Amino acid sequence: MEVTIDNLESYLAKTYGGFASEHGVSLAENNLFMKLVEEIGEVAEVINRKTGRKADDGTDLNGELGKELCDVIHYAVAIAAVNGLDLNSIIIEKDRAASIKYNHKINLEDFILNRVR
Ligand SMILES: [Mg+2]
Repeated sequence: MEVTIDNLESYLAKTYGGFASEHGVSLAENNLFMKLVEEIGEVAEVINRKTGRKADDGTDLNGELGKELCDVIHYAVAIAAVNGLDLNSIIIEKDRAASIKYNHKINLEDFILNRVR
């Protein structure tokens, strides 16, 4: 099964939309933002252990990194979801603008349209 931004955002809108409508978008957004920052700190913690800045306790650090990055994506997409943003379109537009600004040979939309599976 392939997870898409659209599916993840719809799912998280259902997950957090009730809280947002009950307590207000700004409170939901604030809570989700605090969770996002907390998860970014957890990514930093794993990277510090991977790079030797902190002691490695023998855990699967790549596995841990994947899980913490997943948490970061979860809360970032959740903030978009409770604000009703169309993250899929925004990602395409942002990448198109960046590809022009930085003279990339290809943009995300062209990559997806021409991708051979
Ligand atoms: Mg975490």
